[in-house]
Amino acid sequence: MATQTEQSKYGPLRSLKLTGSPHERGVTHGEAFADEIEKNLEIYLDVFEYKGTDEGTVYEQAEAFVPLIEDENEAYAEEMQGVAEGSGLSIEDVTILNARYEVMYSAFKQAADDLDRAKPDACTAYGVRNSLSDDGHTYVGQNWDWMPGLETFVMDVEQENGANHVAMTEAGIVGGKIGVNEAGLALTLNGLVTEHDGEDPFRKPYHVRLREVLDAERMDAAIEALIAKDRVCSANVIIGHESGEMIDLELSPEKANYLYPDDDGLLVHTNHVEDTTSMDSQFEKLIPDTLCRAPRLRRLLTEGTDTVGEADIKGALRDHFGHPNSICRHPNEDDPELDRLETGGSFIMDLTEKRLLGTNGPPCEHGYTEFQVSS
Ligand SMILES: [Zn+2]
Repeated sequence: MATQTEQSKYGPLRSLKLTGSPHERGVTHGEAFADEIEKNLEIYLDVFEYKGTDEGTVYEQAEAFVPLIEDENEAYAEEMQGVAEGSGLSIEDVTILNARYEVMYSAFKQAADDLDRAKPDACTAYGVRNSLSDDGHTYVGQNWDWMPGLETFVMDVEQENGANHVAMTEAGIVGGKIGVNEAGLALTLNGLVTEHDGEDPFRKPYHVRLREVLDAERMDAAIEALIAKDRVCSANVIIGHESGEMIDLELSPEKANYLYPDDDGLLVHTNHVEDTTSMDSQFEKLIPDTLCRAPRLRRLLTEGTDTVGEADIKGALRDHFGHPNSICRHPNEDDPELDRLETGGSFIMDLTEKRLLGTNGPPCEHGYTEFQVSS
């Protein structure tokens, strides 16, 4: 029976249609996933404490982020308020989830003498230009490596003020982090750690910016959401467009690097900074496997073939070189429980057809489900 429980840790990848005003969408989200949101909050409060920040400090940070998010993006704040009302949690509870990167990196700063605990989302991301794919479509996606047990779903957003999109999010978070929209724009996110993370703890949160990327009708507007204002912490984002245009943004609190696909039309990125002229990369000291996953994925996708198809991408995302710290990542039993990483979902987005294929759990054990952007 124990084995059965383990196997059922991941159910099917769920989706939820979100329509109406931002507040109405939030209420729908909160009501549908009230239990999951509460579970995610409990996981994060445990992990923040483990990484160096007690619950009282976390709630003080959340109180400061409520007006900050209202100033930055009123619609986002209204949707968070709806999530709070629908789930029966407080606005501070919901804000903790929506600013969880920023809260966590501030905790890292406080635990700077114990860098082993400073692990954000890991992940292996890629982009395949239409010139390289076997069907002429543009693809962007990733494996999302994070704490086992978090509850996620695909938000199917139909809205008037912003592009319709489908995106994976954690229950309680308004901004999807891996998604594609009706304008043919797609987004991936993976963690970076650089030297000045968390020094200024109160700036526009990443999840607000990610929502703005998916709301965008044009690529420059999507890029602006990430680079116009300084950030609390580091992250790597790929933004792709159905035309085949693609950019990788390596973001530290106050610097940004811009990378583009290689001559083959391929872009890969893991958890170390590729262009270290402007920022000092730290995450590879904690997860050296990042240095192998990027070239490995590049090789798996291009060696011995002139084109890349959906089946090739799926095969590469199931790769176990270096297991358990592989592209398809599994919990490392040597790590403390609250520091384990696992591929919680694997994603392939076809920008040309505006569809997202996703798994709930590692792709070696779970099949892909397809979601289409509402037109
Ligand atoms: Zn696996």
